[in-house]
Amino acid sequence: MPSSSADPELLPLSWLAQYGYCPRRCALLALERVWSENEFTAAGRAQHQKVHTARVERRGENISLFELPVFSRALGVSGLCDCVEAAQSPDGIHLPYGDGRYRLYPVEYKHGIVRDEAEYHIQLCAQAICLEEQFGGAISAGAIFFIDAHRRDEVPLTPELRKATTDTAKAVALLVARQLLPQAKYSAKCRKCSMQDECAPKLRHSSAAYCQTIWNTVLEEDLL
Ligand code: SF4
Repeated sequence: MPSSSADPELLPLSWLAQYGYCPRRCALLALERVWSENEFTAAGRAQHQKVHTARVERRGENISLFELPVFSRALGVSGLCDCVEAAQSPDGIHLPYGDGRYRLYPVEYKHGIVRDEAEYHIQLCAQAICLEEQFGGAISAGAIFFIDAHRRDEVPLTPELRKATTDTAKAVALLVARQLLPQAKYSAKCRKCSMQDECAPKLRHSSAAYCQTIWNTVLEEDLL
């Protein structure tokens, strides 16, 4: 059974966000090991590198943990939290980073324009589930911080979001286990996708619909 964030059995937590953006993009990354950068991904990576180094910051009684490694056996994923804010609270949990009890609040950093994307919420929720599994306690909300706009949007971790996150983790695990590449569906997202050349979303292959049918059947059977 996986016991740390470095366990090779665990899949990258970031793949949940990739799957939420587009299952085929996640499959290209996970199965074909394809990764291409465009202006959007390059800007995001550069901004993350500039902002983030692993560190612990203390302000008064509260702590901010940057680039915190996390994992969840329940979700089968591991990754890094951009920032976890730990505020002193009598009904909080103990942490190895300070005395007292703390309430945890994950914050995911994003570059570019402010937007409300379901995959961001799933990524944040997965981080919260990891933190709950590692440290105990219940996390009721987190936030997406848009670096350029200096805006922070709170995301309630509702039962619906938790279910969507669990379903996405199962779907990613299935995709990897069955080695199935979902068919491309051209949409507005393709215009910003860095994998356009590898994906060729406007090409129609006779085998594509067949592959999609298999993938849909597998998902229906395993998520029920
Ligand atoms: S180009 Fe479109 S269909 Fe292809 S991986 Fe990107 S978002 Fe998905």
